[in-house]
Amino acid sequence: MTMRQARADLEKHRNAIVRSLGLRGLSTPQRGDEVDRAVDDLERTVAVETKAVRLGRLVLIEMALNRLVLGEYGICLGCEKPIAPARLRAIPWADRCVHCQEMLELEAQANRGSAKRRRAVDADDGDEAPKHLEPDLQHFTDMKESD
Ligand SMILES: [Zn+2]
Repeated sequence: MTMRQARADLEKHRNAIVRSLGLRGLSTPQRGDEVDRAVDDLERTVAVETKAVRLGRLVLIEMALNRLVLGEYGICLGCEKPIAPARLRAIPWADRCVHCQEMLELEAQANRGSAKRRRAVDADDGDEAPKHLEPDLQHFTDMKESD
């Protein structure tokens, strides 16, 4: 896959998303040309995706176009090795090789788990607060308990 193909692919996907979101003004091809027809097909596919998915992908596409300009397109952000051409053909906005993408997803899952555990520990610490109460406040809590 050449850089020119990659750019055409990314712009095709971008145009489909931009149009489906009702946005205007980004490099819209002339009516009736080959890219336009490809975008029309893609638009029908894109239209059934949720707006959140489309917006998220649009960001990834813009980032991929930036990497093209910088000459960093197709290089994995994780291991800095070339991403497999077949992967880039399937997902032109991919920024990681299959291996690094999997590692990233496993890491994200693990982080979600440990964040939950951290919140549980914080809640336990909160239970020790009454020890530090001033004497008059302690009296107040005693009264409440005898109630
Ligand atoms: Zn990698």
